[in-house]
Amino acid sequence: MSENVVIITGASRGIGAATARLAAQRGYAVCVNYATNRDAADRVVADITKAGGRALATQANVANEADVIRLFDAAAQALGPVTALVNNAGILEQQMRLDEMEAGRFERVFAINITGAFLCAREAVRRMSTKHGGHGGTIVNVGSMASKLGSPGEYIDYAASKGAIDSLTIGLAKEVAEEGIRVNAVRPGVIRTEIHASGGEAGRVDRVAKSVPMKRGGEPEEVAHAILWLLSSESSYSTGTFIDVSGGR
Ligand code: NAP
Repeated sequence: MSENVVIITGASRGIGAATARLAAQRGYAVCVNYATNRDAADRVVADITKAGGRALATQANVANEADVIRLFDAAAQALGPVTALVNNAGILEQQMRLDEMEAGRFERVFAINITGAFLCAREAVRRMSTKHGGHGGTIVNVGSMASKLGSPGEYIDYAASKGAIDSLTIGLAKEVAEEGIRVNAVRPGVIRTEIHASGGEAGRVDRVAKSVPMKRGGEPEEVAHAILWLLSSESSYSTGTFIDVSGGR
């Protein structure tokens, strides 16, 4: 039986790392992509291999086309043909109003959150689509509830980049539905990871939790479970769909 091989972008920390560990528990060989934090990626790989799984840490900036191609080649070479992609890598910048933002910030946020996701999805389709001689596969995009809420006063640019992830999910799902590839997305709400510190408010989860109907933030593992369901054959008739993992927010 051939093995499931998943590339998870931004898997050194947060939601991506939790997804990598859970995927390995479910029998996937996992390519743990990271941008700069080699030690954190190595720790995820060590956890997986210690538990008897197969994993590989691979540095690649998802916003860089050559890096993304190298990422997919390295995963296939070390682990076998890639059968799944989790488009998870994402950033946000300092909280502020739109009228305070400098132009370079839009380029950085859109390059990683939008172009990065598009480049990775493109490589996955080129390798998995039956149209290109592949055997099919699954893509799960990590969007955000911010696409619907808009993140006023914090990061409208980030929210808009996640709106693009929603559209990518809907359009690509229809484009490759007959080619053996399902494309779905999770939209996390406020999840306990280090991303909030990069917005300048490390304690954001606890502040926002009060406005969440369930009155708490989410854990990365709770998002990982939704991702793994969308990756698995249990969701075989779902494509172009979304799971909001947001405590009702
Ligand atoms: P995080 O803890 O800050 O981790 C970000 C991950 O992305 C790290 O592994 C980082 O690698 C990687 N990364 C950053 N830039 C990259 C690049 N250019 N190329 C490749 N990898 C890159 O973030 P998180 O909270 O887990 O977020 C993961 C995803 O969930 C993001 O798309 C985010 O927008 C989305 N999300 C998060 C929340 C939340 O509340 N946490 C809510 C909604 C959506 P290094 O370790 O090397 O820096």
